[in-house]
Amino acid sequence: EAKKLGRNQYHFFTEELNETVQKVITLDKQMRQALIDNEYILYYQPKIDLSSGKILGVEALIRWINKTNKFVPPSDFIPLAEENGFIKELGIWIVDEALNQYVKWRDMGIDISIAINISAKQFLEKDFEIKFIEKLEEKKINPAKINLEITEYILMDKSDYVQDILNILHDYGVRISLDDFGTGYSSLSYLKKFPIDYLKIDKAFLDDYESSSGKIFLETIVKMGQMLKMKVVAEGIEEQEQIDYLKTISCDEYQGYYFSKPLNNEDFEKLYFNNLKDE
Ligand code: C2E
Ligand code: MG
Ligand code: MG
Ligand code: MG
Repeated sequence: EAKKLGRNQYHFFTEELNETVQKVITLDKQMRQALIDNEYILYYQPKIDLSSGKILGVEALIRWINKTNKFVPPSDFIPLAEENGFIKELGIWIVDEALNQYVKWRDMGIDISIAINISAKQFLEKDFEIKFIEKLEEKKINPAKINLEITEYILMDKSDYVQDILNILHDYGVRISLDDFGTGYSSLSYLKKFPIDYLKIDKAFLDDYESSSGKIFLETIVKMGQMLKMKVVAEGIEEQEQIDYLKTISCDEYQGYYFSKPLNNEDFEKLYFNNLKDE
């Protein structure tokens, strides 16, 4: 009986494993085909100045609108794209698309910066910084308007190499954001070693803004960032009360559904011009 059960379980597990492997293989194929079929689109989430309420910039966030599955969130495919290397190809598309959109907006008189999320594999690709700077030159883009969002994860790996590349980009004038600060393998030494202009406090800290320890963390991160000459950005703001609190601790900027969810380019333009009118 036990032997029989054992064998059944074995069958069960291999079938389940096969299914998982099949799903990954299918997703892998669909993800690559989606680039050919133009199924990716960038959405843009505004970044707001806390004291004036003005839109300072946007963060580009990828969306995959799949013909069959409708909407696939980035958390469902970015990790796989990083694992199988497809992010290198997709990353090139993301950078080109974001820079082209920046130029269109600049030429329309929309004066904002644009932030692009760069994954570790993409960043560590040979000559990433050279190709990136070449694109800025070619499109005559003011590098100060371009912000690269990286995570602590990048800084851990090959840290001397990463430091060199970040310094090249930063010296050229590109702004660097440290994304999701406080969640990863946070080491305060990173803040000293790397040229970071913006510290983005992860939503998890903002969710906990009401507790006394939550307040201590937020206030300390904001002070520390500012003393290190960084701008501090709060992520995932959903309530007015959070904004009120962030103002009391003089946080610089915020993003979140409270002001706006990520929007397609046209919806962002409407929001931008409305925001100008409100001033
Ligand atoms: P992230 O860079 O930290 O982006 C912030 C995420 O929080 C976005 O999710 C955004 O939609 C979401 N968010 C913003 N405000 C709020 C809020 O008030 N409440 C809640 N609940 N969520 C909020 P999204 O677009 O699903 O992206 C998730 C992650 O996927 C990103 O985290 C980033 O790590 C990655 N990702 C997205 N687009 C790209 C891309 O173009 N390239 C790369 N390499 N990674 C990307
Ligand atoms: Mg980001
Ligand atoms: Mg983030
Ligand atoms: Mg995040």
